[in-house]
Amino acid sequence: MDPDLAVIGGVGFALKGQADEVETPYGKVPVVHSNFVGKEIVFISRHGDNHLPPHKVNYRAIISAARISGARAVISTNTVGSMAGHPMGSIFLPSDFAEFTKSRPNTFFEERAVHVDMGCPYCPHLRRSLIEAAGSLGQTVGEGVYVCAEGPHLESPAQIRMMRLFGDVVGMTGYPEVVLAREARLCYASLCIVTNPAAGMIGGSNLAISEITDLMRKNQEIVAEIIKLAAQEISDERSCGCRYALEDAVL
Ligand SMILES: [Zn+2]
Repeated sequence: MDPDLAVIGGVGFALKGQADEVETPYGKVPVVHSNFVGKEIVFISRHGDNHLPPHKVNYRAIISAARISGARAVISTNTVGSMAGHPMGSIFLPSDFAEFTKSRPNTFFEERAVHVDMGCPYCPHLRRSLIEAAGSLGQTVGEGVYVCAEGPHLESPAQIRMMRLFGDVVGMTGYPEVVLAREARLCYASLCIVTNPAAGMIGGSNLAISEITDLMRKNQEIVAEIIKLAAQEISDERSCGCRYALEDAVL
């Protein structure tokens, strides 16, 4: 049976279940099959057991595995730094993105020119389900533009001053995942947890990565609850245009 949903877990977030493996053109991807609230979920760890750094993550393999597993909707979890004063521990749902990455393959189409539409990068149906789920659990939800930095170093104050011109939060893992999901005609949304103020912001500090992962672990439960609630709203009868984003998808 095809899963109803794929969940991509970032640092400090995982779902338990039956371990499996998906063969993709980009390598084998370990996955976990979970079932909750009557929904089949396939969980994919973004960084894997080897804890790959953001610029080394095999994004094409991950999105390919989600698609091959049969899921048509993907919820991705990410940690972000706020450039706009969001409370720590609050939820942020990107509606658009900008990026400053440098070394990441960002398309499935290497041999011919395919220009996937990015007018609506994140699925409005999934976003609405996640926003409503987070709101019903009493969570503060921010929306806006996600800026993806290359990393793995944290940003300098000058980089943040530049990125603030483009967006509201900064992370390292949201791109090219969002674009690849679009190319794969998947409904895709990113559920971000604000774990720190970005460098140079009021209250911003040189936060150790271990402090960020600790915060994410503390928030794991609430992230799982939001996904559970949102999963109940996901059906194949979506009115969004995600599945038509690319007519000649080859996956
Ligand atoms: Zn959609």
